[in-house]
Amino acid sequence: MRILVTNDDGINAPGLVVLEEIAAQFSDDVWVCAPAEEQSGAGHSLTLTKPVRLRKHGEKRYSVSGTPTDSVMMALRTVMPGPPDLVLSGVNRGANLGDDITYSGTVSAAIEGALAGIRSIALSQVYSREGMGDDVPFGAAREWGAKAIAPLLGVPLPERTLININFPPVHANEVKGIRVVRQGFHDYGRGTVVEGRDPRGYRYYWFGLDAIEHTLDHGTDLEAIAEGYVSVTPLQLDLTHYSSLGALAERYE
Ligand code: MN
Repeated sequence: MRILVTNDDGINAPGLVVLEEIAAQFSDDVWVCAPAEEQSGAGHSLTLTKPVRLRKHGEKRYSVSGTPTDSVMMALRTVMPGPPDLVLSGVNRGANLGDDITYSGTVSAAIEGALAGIRSIALSQVYSREGMGDDVPFGAAREWGAKAIAPLLGVPLPERTLININFPPVHANEVKGIRVVRQGFHDYGRGTVVEGRDPRGYRYYWFGLDAIEHTLDHGTDLEAIAEGYVSVTPLQLDLTHYSSLGALAERYE
């Protein structure tokens, strides 16, 4: 089995090494192609207005001066000798739950894999910023990664679907298990915009995604993580809201 490992935190991110170690439990043919710089929040963007550069860091290890989507595209079309059997994206530094998904470069790299017809899985380590600073403990992901991935390798996945996995912000031995759950929603509508002045006195704005008080709907990824479980969510790329088709069509008659 040939595996492509990518992420949105960049080629030097600690979570990438964690995912390489997880991938090595399944195959010795693991290729890494990841953005040269952090691309969190890049979503599914593709670089079209400037060239991208490919850099080789070692055998089967490359970076791309672009987005996660650019990295997967480069890996599939230029870097790898043939298509991988599996795309793994992550392990992201921070959650990709609920409505994080469409902002997420991590999930979008897996989306790009799914579009290419390859089994694709996004993995993220949720962490609590309070008291942790920049240090994200990847213990839960490290310990539970292979357990979460293994059952997905044999299961038939319909076209244009992918899997989103999140690991809870607890020590590996405190993880309660794995739950298959739907995508929740956590309303970033009131996300913060911090205003400040740069060293030359000019105003700037900086977006933040504050933790928002919300009720955790039953059976969602958010609830599973809050209760200490690994969440596994199948996603589909068809965003059509089917039950609205009829009513909307009537408005145009
Ligand atoms: Mn990220």
